Amino acid sequence: MSDTVKIVRTVHDLRKVTAKWRHRGHSIGLVPTMGALHAGHVSLVRLAKKKADRAVVSIFVNPTQFAANEDLSRYPRDEAGDLKKLDDADADLVWAPTVEEMYPDGFSTGVRAGSAAKELEGTFRPQHFDGVATVCAKLFNQVTPNVAIFGEKDFQQLAVLLQMVRDLNMPLKLIGAPTKRDTDGLALSSRNAYLSATERKIAPSLFSIISALAGDIAEGADVAAGVTNAKRKLTAAGFEKIDYIEVRDSETLGSASTASGRPLRVLAACWLGKTRLIDNVAV
Ligand code: AMP
Repeated sequence: MSDTVKIVRTVHDLRKVTAKWRHRGHSIGLVPTMGALHAGHVSLVRLAKKKADRAVVSIFVNPTQFAANEDLSRYPRDEAGDLKKLDDADADLVWAPTVEEMYPDGFSTGVRAGSAAKELEGTFRPQHFDGVATVCAKLFNQVTPNVAIFGEKDFQQLAVLLQMVRDLNMPLKLIGAPTKRDTDGLALSSRNAYLSATERKIAPSLFSIISALAGDIAEGADVAAGVTNAKRKLTAAGFEKIDYIEVRDSETLGSASTASGRPLRVLAACWLGKTRLIDNVAV
């Protein structure tokens, strides 16, 4: 256990700390996580420290964003390791509620995620973004941050939360941060721990294939033909199942038109054995 970064596990104790900071005029940055932290998470904490006087990192594996057939029970957990990394990153407070503290008996209110949650992840994980939106709304009310930092790694999640904050007039600013990658291009993810040695060797080709597709589209290639080609390459590389690979409008995540001049994003989700990987790149 760390002896420097403070950890609180009840809303009561959290508010005691944040009230003191508010009294001193300090601004607060929040970095929501599910723990099993890696350098991608740490980069968000460092950004939070630049954008606010105090950085709060929440660690909560949120059961309501997992479907019954998903990996909630085997999701990696390493609180001691996380606290060490957060110490090094100069986090000011760790907010680590229990499931009972977050969802006490009788809890039944929720946020229904907006149009950005439809399709892509929403097609394959139908309740996921309602769970994410609800827990983030709770985290925002608990921590009352001025800013909250989210990774572009989960690009659709960022779009859904930007829409929630806008639609519900939530009094904070969301900031998106670029995806941290391993030297071979694989996006860092807590779920990479599930990959076998063979799967880990295949995994970086997801990034190289969607990057090549983004490059081709930027040079004027036909989107449908490019996507078909990218799917063929993913299958040849060893990905067993492709949930989707799509080119979308970066802001609305609606259908993309290369003629519109609007920023586009390539988003993909596919499976290596029992592990589902997602990634995205700008066109
Ligand atoms: P998670 O713990 O996976 O729910 O992620 C917590 C936050 O870290 C989310 O905002 C993610 O988008 C972000 N994140 C996850 N992986 C990365 C990465 N490789 N680079 C930057 N941010 C990331």
